[in-house]
Amino acid sequence: MKVRVRYAPSPTGYLHIGNARTALFNYLFARKYNGEFIVRIEDTDIERNVPDGEESQLKYLKWLGIDYDESVDKINPKYAPYRQLERLDIYKKYAMKLVEKGLAYKCYCTEEELAAERNGLSEEKASHIHYSRRCLNASPEELKELEKRGEYTIRFKVPEHKTYTFNDLVKGEVSFSSDDIGDWVILKRNGIPTYNFAVVIDDHLMDITHVLRGEEHITNTPKQLMIYEAFGWEPPVFGHMTLIVKEDGKKLSKRDPNYIAFISQYEEYGYLPEALFNFIALLGWSPEGEEEILSKEELIAKFDEKRLSKSPATFDRNKLNYINSCYIKKLPLDKLVELCRPHLEKHKISLNRSEEWITKLVALFHDRLSYAKEIVDLYHEFFETEFNIEGEALDFIKQDGVKETLIVFKDKVEKLEDFTEENIQEVIKATGKETKAKGKMLYMPCRIATTAQMHGPELPKMLELIGKAEVLRRLEKTLELFD
Ligand code: GLU
Repeated sequence: MKVRVRYAPSPTGYLHIGNARTALFNYLFARKYNGEFIVRIEDTDIERNVPDGEESQLKYLKWLGIDYDESVDKINPKYAPYRQLERLDIYKKYAMKLVEKGLAYKCYCTEEELAAERNGLSEEKASHIHYSRRCLNASPEELKELEKRGEYTIRFKVPEHKTYTFNDLVKGEVSFSSDDIGDWVILKRNGIPTYNFAVVIDDHLMDITHVLRGEEHITNTPKQLMIYEAFGWEPPVFGHMTLIVKEDGKKLSKRDPNYIAFISQYEEYGYLPEALFNFIALLGWSPEGEEEILSKEELIAKFDEKRLSKSPATFDRNKLNYINSCYIKKLPLDKLVELCRPHLEKHKISLNRSEEWITKLVALFHDRLSYAKEIVDLYHEFFETEFNIEGEALDFIKQDGVKETLIVFKDKVEKLEDFTEENIQEVIKATGKETKAKGKMLYMPCRIATTAQMHGPELPKMLELIGKAEVLRRLEKTLELFD
């Protein structure tokens, strides 16, 4: 039997880290077992659908490298259509089959009548109360009257005192009692199916063998099992993945500054899709061994559904940044320049700068960047500082002999015609020779006097980018400290 799995987003929102993870684990599972990975659009929640929800879902799956075998834009006629709203006839046909078999029934009750049944009960109790089965138990005369209303929903007749048990890939054996579930609507008045019904019809007709999804769906599973049973269909294997939480175990909130919800935002920040793929794969799953930087191919080879975590997955932004920085280090410089360019442009850092200057700036921070947008912060940290020497840096520079070193250094900088990294390096060396300053007593004064900082990227490279005029201005300002 060929493995077929699916990711079934509702286009009520954009692709976020939680559903991307569901898609990704399904994808790894499919590839691992040479199976097929399908994306089905569950668009029956008409009021909540957003116009570009579907487009965003597909676009960012592709961006992440989660390439699917079938979907709305990759049709296999055997299983199409892939949007639930285009399959309404199918759901209706199957709902009517259940009615014919006496396993479901038409319910003519109005919203007001249903509300009245729950009236007077607390919200908690009302949500547990089952439908009274008025339409199921109506006498023939009563039913005739009800039928005059025309409009109806179809309700599934939940079997009594039954236990639904399944072996969850992640959670092990899980059981639910049917007595906790009232007769639920499978088809609404407007002909649109409810999720728990449509999902079964589709998973069955699309030959889905395994359903890996978020644990928020675990309580839906018994309803789905009832439908499989009613049709005499074999249910797929289920696996419910744990939640993604913050480091303190609390629920993630979109307002949390250490959390990035939507995949489009990762792209905007300048995270690399390969790195994000790697990071997401480690959210609630871990390979055997210590290595965590793993390519898509390695992850497919190592994927093992038995290693899906039983405890919640922690979202760790530092880990994300570390993983991304590893991928950035391996990225060719020209690619990194392209990734950084929009950020440099947006913050006017590249304004009036040559291509060579931009490339050298990016090269300077190649090993420090966690994500492309960070180049703006790094630039501001090291280049856009108000030039003020204070604290420890000031104490350092006030040491004996420093002034003399700086005078010689400034003199040599002034004479330098070609202000390049190599020449600046030579000037520092020559300053050391002439003043006998060595090591830290040579480099630190030069650094502090030109950047006001005690640490930073390679000094000659940085000074070349700052430019001769500004470097001289700073040296003059520093020497004034000794007056
Ligand atoms: N449309 C459902 C969701 O977005 C899919 C659930 C499932 O995978 O069965 O949560």
